[in-house]
Amino acid sequence: MINTKINVPLLDLQRQYQDIESTVMSSIQDVFNSKIFINGPKVTQLETDIAAYCGTKHAIGVSSGTDALIISLMALDIQPGDEIITTPFTFFATAGSISRLGAVPVFVDIDPLTYNIDPNLIEAKITSKTKVIMPVHLFGQLADMNQIMAIAKKHNLHVIEDAAQAIGAKTTYNGKPLQAAGSIGDLGCFSFFPSKNLGCCGDGGVVTTNSDDLYEKCQVLRAHGSKPKYYHHIIGGNFRLDAIQAAVVSAKLPFLNDQHEGRIKNATYYNQHLHQDIKTPVVSDGSYMIYNQYTIQHEKRDQLMDVLQEYTIGHAIYYPVPLHLQGCFSHLGYQEGNLPVSEKAAKEVVSIPVFPELTQSELDYTVAVINQFIESN
Ligand SMILES: *Cc1c(COP(=O)(O)O)cnc(C)c1O
Repeated sequence: MINTKINVPLLDLQRQYQDIESTVMSSIQDVFNSKIFINGPKVTQLETDIAAYCGTKHAIGVSSGTDALIISLMALDIQPGDEIITTPFTFFATAGSISRLGAVPVFVDIDPLTYNIDPNLIEAKITSKTKVIMPVHLFGQLADMNQIMAIAKKHNLHVIEDAAQAIGAKTTYNGKPLQAAGSIGDLGCFSFFPSKNLGCCGDGGVVTTNSDDLYEKCQVLRAHGSKPKYYHHIIGGNFRLDAIQAAVVSAKLPFLNDQHEGRIKNATYYNQHLHQDIKTPVVSDGSYMIYNQYTIQHEKRDQLMDVLQEYTIGHAIYYPVPLHLQGCFSHLGYQEGNLPVSEKAAKEVVSIPVFPELTQSELDYTVAVINQFIESN
């Protein structure tokens, strides 16, 4: 029996900022000293930093991860009725962005081990209207980019990586190890939402690309399609990143790799100590997963959640409703049973604390609570 309850949060930003807050604050102070609140040196610096970190030619700061997706689709001239192949097992923004442009999300089921889009099911969904494949690197692990890029090439499609959960995640691509998320497709989309591995103090995001042409297009689209200023040949939006958010992200970036390592250490501990009847995350060969979430799967997930609640262990379901079954997409005509792997995952997964600052006693406690549940069920 576990006698003493302890409170284990799912994520503790207090602890994340403990050692770095003064560094972040001084970077914010630079912005106030300059009074350049939009664009300017902090945004340019961040773009340089992110491009270097991801190994891409360009990066462009934008207002959120969602806007990164929207501007990427706009840069590829996506029109109403165009079809975009993606996964239903993801945050809403992935498909929401597609629909916002009048395009149609075409959902392909996931691999049961990694929860990423199953590349073997993609080709069957390609039609004459398909323009883009948009894989999501869920929970901090890249989708199978080798297969996805080969399919895209064969069918002359573009690839937008939804890398919102995967900054710094890597994979072996084309025989080369350690290719970063966002550096493989035509465009990579990242979010600086505070709960991502690299979070700012509000909303923010970035787009990466190796294409000069797409980079230029994103820059124009970010500022209402204006080029030169006040002359508009295309319609863009206000997709700018605040200088303050850029300042925060740049200040935090040097600490990111250590934080990834902390998450990996915690995940490894769980992998080794959680009961074998629990499905723990599966990391593909050659993949460096950064564990934006540590997601476990069990048939009695709902009962397990009650126990986590009782023992005050933070947890959340990412994601309880696969997107093809969301009310707003009912017109697309999907039904329960169409994408069974995603549907099963939605019923059985739960994510538990994995943030880098977790203590050993918190890890031990979490393992003990979960294993006690499994053994008594
Ligand atoms: C967080 C997230 C987004 C959206 O990012 P925001 O910055 O919140 O707009 C998009 N896709 C995925 C997979 C995400 O996890």
